[in-house]
Amino acid sequence: MAVSDKKSGCLSIFFPFLKFFQKEETQALPYRLRDDFLSPAEFSFYKVLSSLLGGRWTIQSKVRLADVFFVARPNENIAFFNRIAQKHLDFLVCHTTSMKPALGIELDDSSHRRSNRQERDEFVENVCKAAGLPLLRVPVQREYNSREIAAQIAPILKANFENPAPQSQPTVEKPTNSVPVCPKCDIPMVLRAVAQGEHKGKQFYGCSNYPQCRVMKPVKAQIA
Ligand SMILES: [Zn+2]
Repeated sequence: MAVSDKKSGCLSIFFPFLKFFQKEETQALPYRLRDDFLSPAEFSFYKVLSSLLGGRWTIQSKVRLADVFFVARPNENIAFFNRIAQKHLDFLVCHTTSMKPALGIELDDSSHRRSNRQERDEFVENVCKAAGLPLLRVPVQREYNSREIAAQIAPILKANFENPAPQSQPTVEKPTNSVPVCPKCDIPMVLRAVAQGEHKGKQFYGCSNYPQCRVMKPVKAQIA
């Protein structure tokens, strides 16, 4: 064993990550940084979009559908998960303070006229509709008219901001002794207790899909 090996061997006891880096280096992984993360059309649209949106909104690009949506009953709907696992939205506008998705945007180029692409587009539209995410389709252009884009986007974001979809708000329902069902996921909820803070120990019903679904219901309404 070479002297330097001995040294790094000793060091790796105290700094195990050193060993990790050395191993990776010798393997010469075949990854390279892409020079075209956004295509010219995507980048051109991104610049217009970012000039229109203030700090209240954040733009994400190339977002995987499976990171935006979840499948309500995953065990019985594996095929539905597989259908969103490899698909992406071109852009996703999120509310900056909560990062809650507010609007999906797809840039339509000539490839969207192909029949398999149309099928994919229709599926993505239906996914967005089912989950309550507005989706805007913008035809690819050499230059975008900011006014036109603003006129399309502003009303959607305004409505989303002023009337957010009712979620995570405990709703008072008719008293019942049975376990409530999550209205979003259509599955039985589970009894949980607040872990910390001034309401520590207080029980509530939470969705079993937490944290993907944060719908809650008060226990009081169920047993009163
Ligand atoms: Zn739920």
